[in-house]
Amino acid sequence: MATDYYAVLGVRRDASQDEIKKAFRRLARELHPDVNPDPKTQERFKEINAAYEVLSDPQKKQVYDLGGDPLSANGGGGGAGGFGAGGFGNFSDIMDAFFGNAAQRGPRSRTRRGQDAMIRLEIDLNEAAFGTTKDIQVDTAVVCNTCSGEGAAPGTSAQTCDMCRGRGEVSQVTRSFLGQVMTSRPCPQCQGFGTVVPTPCPECAGDGRIRSRRTLTVKIPAGVDNGTRIQLAGEGEVGPGGGPPGDLYVEIHELPHSVFQRRGDDLHCTVTIPMTAAALGTKCPLETLDGLEEIDIRPGTQSGQSVPLHGRGITHLRGGGRGDLIVHVEVMTPAKLDAEQERLLRELAKLRGEERPLGQFQPGQQGLFSRLKDAFNGR
Ligand SMILES: [Zn+2]
Ligand SMILES: [Zn+2]
Repeated sequence: MATDYYAVLGVRRDASQDEIKKAFRRLARELHPDVNPDPKTQERFKEINAAYEVLSDPQKKQVYDLGGDPLSANGGGGGAGGFGAGGFGNFSDIMDAFFGNAAQRGPRSRTRRGQDAMIRLEIDLNEAAFGTTKDIQVDTAVVCNTCSGEGAAPGTSAQTCDMCRGRGEVSQVTRSFLGQVMTSRPCPQCQGFGTVVPTPCPECAGDGRIRSRRTLTVKIPAGVDNGTRIQLAGEGEVGPGGGPPGDLYVEIHELPHSVFQRRGDDLHCTVTIPMTAAALGTKCPLETLDGLEEIDIRPGTQSGQSVPLHGRGITHLRGGGRGDLIVHVEVMTPAKLDAEQERLLRELAKLRGEERPLGQFQPGQQGLFSRLKDAFNGR
């Protein structure tokens, strides 16, 4: 193989994309023709561009790692992407090498954004249906009042680190086959902050924040469900150094209701009515979320039929309107009959021609026997 691209960039064969990019930028700054017009240097500049073009592209890198050269005319990946055609590799990365990413340099801030926090909140079905307001107790980190988040004891302040002179990083010059190579690493004395706190705040031990319990009032919108998360921006943990707080998420846990079962925004319940009421029709009082209502059971209602009460369910979280309340009817067969009741029922059966037991209906005839058989046959 003609060129060892890894050696050209001065990185190990197992270098990460980040390391490859950093190595390229460093060399590009050093060897750019505008900086160093010497023909030999320009030759080197072309080399590092070719190396970067291959190693920064996962596909080309794979071809190269397997022994091919993706930049040669028939090396795979199409010749048009070759170095000669495309000029200097990836233009934006070259620009980055000169102008971009200044933020990565210099001391890092002691102040960082805090983490998000989460709290579980139990509500009942009524509150889920119509929304509510709740006071919750939250335990989070808040800015330390003693040092206002600075981390230094009152009357003292952070001082410039004498090891890195405030730069937050220390540099080292090493010799390699490429010549002198400058490497930087975070300053071990100040951990890269550029400052040291000689006398930490006694209240927060220099962290700039303390734990505190406070009460928050949360508005729960109508229509929330189990697992719904309500985001309270900026009510999470304050960050190190008194940094901006994260968000607080309130996760809804809906307690089961004694009568209603929720499915989506619809509610379901079952009413059990006597056989006679099912046959004759009746009005059945039901305590709904909106108060007492009369369920109209029409004459001839069968067990398993349902009566929908439109708009008596849960409010839709988005878009307004409400789901339905579905009342499932269960018909109760009398289990104990006294003599008079039995006599009346027998008389009724006789009047209706229903004296024969149901099981003696002929197959195919409308009756319990045929319906069950249909169910088993999957029809
Ligand atoms: Zn403090
Ligand atoms: Zn330092």
